Amino acid sequence: MNPVLRNLVALQDLELRIASLQKQISDIPSKVQAFENELQHLSSEFQTRSAHMKDLANRRRMLEGQVDTTKAKLSKLRDQLMAVKTNKEYTAMLHEIQMAEEQIRGEEDKILEIMEEMEAKENSLKGAEQELNKKSSELQESIKKTNESAPQLESELVKLREEKGLKESHVGKELLVRYRRIAEARKGIAIAEAKDELCSACHVRIRPQMYADLIRTEAIQACDSCSRILYYRESL
Ligand SMILES: [Zn+2]
Repeated sequence: MNPVLRNLVALQDLELRIASLQKQISDIPSKVQAFENELQHLSSEFQTRSAHMKDLANRRRMLEGQVDTTKAKLSKLRDQLMAVKTNKEYTAMLHEIQMAEEQIRGEEDKILEIMEEMEAKENSLKGAEQELNKKSSELQESIKKTNESAPQLESELVKLREEKGLKESHVGKELLVRYRRIAEARKGIAIAEAKDELCSACHVRIRPQMYADLIRTEAIQACDSCSRILYYRESL
């Protein structure tokens, strides 16, 4: 291969690696943000479930307090029942006692319902908490690693840029200008391998004469279709 072309191929490889590194570096904040969002989402989901559990416990305590109050009222009514003088009073009192008993039954039923719901949810909440802890530490580890990757990527970038400068100095100015112009128009790919009689970048067939020249001579040729500079890689 023409040594100038070889330098150009190496330059393009370097520039592609530089672009990919730059993208990795600029993606760091959004990557970290995505991890943080997931962490936030998982934790608020768990908070909601655990708040519901606390809510159930509060309702249970409140109902238990109501039962105690009604029971106290009931026992007072029963005492008073002994002291009533008239039938009418007795009937009214009995009715009140019945109402209080019904109230207690209703409240106790509700307490049972709540206890069943709490029992059913307790295990899955415990599982969710363990899962949350595990996921949290995984996500925090990912955040840490992503943040810590920046300096290494930066120093790699510095190294590659130095190499790039060196390579550029080995390519003639005129060719470099041409290379830059094509690279700008063709998403960074200005030089393409000619392989199996095709331009490997645009996949258009290369004229047989040009292909033969590419193999035999060191002349610099461009793809008729995409204008990229072509090179032929000699097989070993
Ligand atoms: Zn092409």
